[in-house]
Amino acid sequence: MSRTLSITRRERDCILIIGEDIKNGFPDRLVNLSRKLKVSSPTVLNILERLSQKGLIRRQEGMVTLTARGQQTYQDLLESHRVIESIFYRNGISETECCEEASKIDYILEQETVSKLFTSLGKPKSCPHGRPIRGD
Ligand SMILES: [Zn+2]
Repeated sequence: MSRTLSITRRERDCILIIGEDIKNGFPDRLVNLSRKLKVSSPTVLNILERLSQKGLIRRQEGMVTLTARGQQTYQDLLESHRVIESIFYRNGISETECCEEASKIDYILEQETVSKLFTSLGKPKSCPHGRPIRGD
């Protein structure tokens, strides 16, 4: 059975920011997201509306939080990103470049594919930047 995230690049970027900020204890408001994503507030509203329809985020008292499914998507994105980075890095692509390149495809791959790649890499504990691939 295939499992893809079915999100756009902008939705991906948005989820990663929200997830990281929640982890750091600073849940986002619309204005923060607009600044961090470098897009206008109406555009952020649009993205949030779509993410909400997909059941990935919830807006509460001006704050944006991830639903349980959104949290899972965030974890999947991180894993996918770091597995792809590791492959690129092992093949001679620089640390900065492998992050940029991985960002172009990490949200498109099926999680099953990511899992197989992870296994074939020998299940590394961390990405080229030293961040944990699983369980971050
Ligand atoms: Zn990394």
